[in-house]
Amino acid sequence: MKIDRMSTPSFLVPEKSWIEISPDSDFSLHNLPYGVARLPKGETAVVVAVGDYVLNLSRLYKKGFFPELKAKKNPFRGHSLNAFIALGRPAWTYVRHRLLALLNSKNQELQSRKDLSKVLIPQSLLAFLLPVEISNYTDFYSSMEHASNVGKMFRPDGEALLPNWKHIPVGYHGRASSIVVSGYPIRRPKGQTLPEGAQVPVFGPSRLLDFELEMAFVVGKSNALGESVLVDEAEEHVFGMVLFNDWSARDIQKWEYVPLGPFLAKNFASSMSPWVVTMDALQPFRTEAPVQDTEVLPYLKEKKRGTYDIQLFVDIQAGALAPATVCRSNFKYLYWTMAQQLAHHTVGGCNMQIGDVCASGTISGPSPDSFGSMLELSWKGSKPLQIGEGVERGFLQDGDVVEMRAFCEKPGVRVGFGSVKTEILPSN
Ligand code: MN
Repeated sequence: MKIDRMSTPSFLVPEKSWIEISPDSDFSLHNLPYGVARLPKGETAVVVAVGDYVLNLSRLYKKGFFPELKAKKNPFRGHSLNAFIALGRPAWTYVRHRLLALLNSKNQELQSRKDLSKVLIPQSLLAFLLPVEISNYTDFYSSMEHASNVGKMFRPDGEALLPNWKHIPVGYHGRASSIVVSGYPIRRPKGQTLPEGAQVPVFGPSRLLDFELEMAFVVGKSNALGESVLVDEAEEHVFGMVLFNDWSARDIQKWEYVPLGPFLAKNFASSMSPWVVTMDALQPFRTEAPVQDTEVLPYLKEKKRGTYDIQLFVDIQAGALAPATVCRSNFKYLYWTMAQQLAHHTVGGCNMQIGDVCASGTISGPSPDSFGSMLELSWKGSKPLQIGEGVERGFLQDGDVVEMRAFCEKPGVRVGFGSVKTEILPSN
């Protein structure tokens, strides 16, 4: 894996900025995540989060702050990151290094400008849109703990893992059109379910609505139809990562999934954080991936296997109650890496497009409080969770607000993803 090209030399990260950034901010100088904001006057632009503010990159570009960026037109104007991502890794690195220079307290270029208030805008004044235009969405199933838990619940008499699981990063093609950004409420889906003991299905609102704690990567480099991406080059094809809540209706899923897999149980909505954290920002948190105890085929074998230490949390808020943290997990638990997922996805010649989103699958860890779905946390509803005094949940109820948070942290360096927060509305 060529990770050296992604690492930001530490001397480029200023010790101090002229923008005040709280030490516990997700959006430190080490981070500089990209998003798309609706500006006060209504137009949309690519922005970068810094502390409680954003920098309007569209305006910076217009004012000549990126002289070496080779683009035909302003890549930061518009409603998605896709045009900027398409410029490729040299452009991503250039913009990152340029922003680090501009944010240095010793640099006067930006901080002394009279029109600073049009470039540096408080996040509280803005609405954030889905950051990428997503042509295709794929969902993997890469947590061994999650796959084993599901196996134990639904096939109690069989092996917890199916025979293919340690040979294939299992996945399915999902629905891109129903991916929404944090803050956009979702409606409880309706569909067919088979009641316990019944012979024929009934139709109605799902009774077993669930979240899935996931992260996703955004494809940053396309490959042509018929070509595949080598596992040791796969991370070069990744622009960055987001937090992802892959909503699931467990009762609909149970009845419909045989033999072709998930359909209406998954396609009603998935929610995504507004910030894309770049792979460059994540390099300080690169760590070893779990050892794979089963030999994989050569196209999945990595020279140097690696993943990222990203702490994950899920909170549920019911009515006026304080949010209760129901899950603490970590991205590093995943058995299959992003590189293996992308190599497998393309090995048959599938063409990935810029902005495609590949989600990890539910990220469960080894301990019961690290399980990444209500299905597992409440063990199919048999062990409801306390989320407040006298208030418990087996699955989610209408009006519940689910918030997922993620950050990487080590002394002096914090790189966060913000959150993906969603209210559940009743069926209509
Ligand atoms: Mn999923």
